Amino acid sequence: MSKKGYKHTIEAKEKIRLHSAKYWLGKKRPPLSPEHNAKLHAKAKGNQYTKGMKFPNRKRPPTKSEETRKKHGAYKGTKAMHWKGGGWQYQKRQTLMRDDWTCQMCKIQDRDIVIVDHKIPKKLRPDLIHDPANLWVLCANCHMRKTKQDFILILKVRADARASKKQNG
Ligand SMILES: [Zn+2]
Repeated sequence: MSKKGYKHTIEAKEKIRLHSAKYWLGKKRPPLSPEHNAKLHAKAKGNQYTKGMKFPNRKRPPTKSEETRKKHGAYKGTKAMHWKGGGWQYQKRQTLMRDDWTCQMCKIQDRDIVIVDHKIPKKLRPDLIHDPANLWVLCANCHMRKTKQDFILILKVRADARASKKQNG
């Protein structure tokens, strides 16, 4: 704001410069002095919008009592009444975390190429699909190699089954 015939002093000009949003764009403001902070807090305490907020953290008071939250927390996630062992995404994440994104064959650790694989192929043991002990982490390279071996293994198992059926029947 400029009044006619009024001139800002050099200090006032500097103050205006430091208070403009343009000056602070992309910069981090220095922390407020403790006195200034206390002053702001004292002012905000009477404000209707900050009612019930705790200072200086400005956290809302919990809507549920501590006891209720504890009670509800005890039946969350794996402890929930309807927990059925989690979906595939959950199991995958658990396996990746357990093996720390490391290929269990060549011990390469690369988050971009690791895959969660079934040790015993799904086709041979469908009942072990969601068994954590049957899951491990492999890299794309080792997974390709293992899939080939699995394919041969499945053919072999099926041929054996057919042969035993012929013998019996
Ligand atoms: Zn590997």
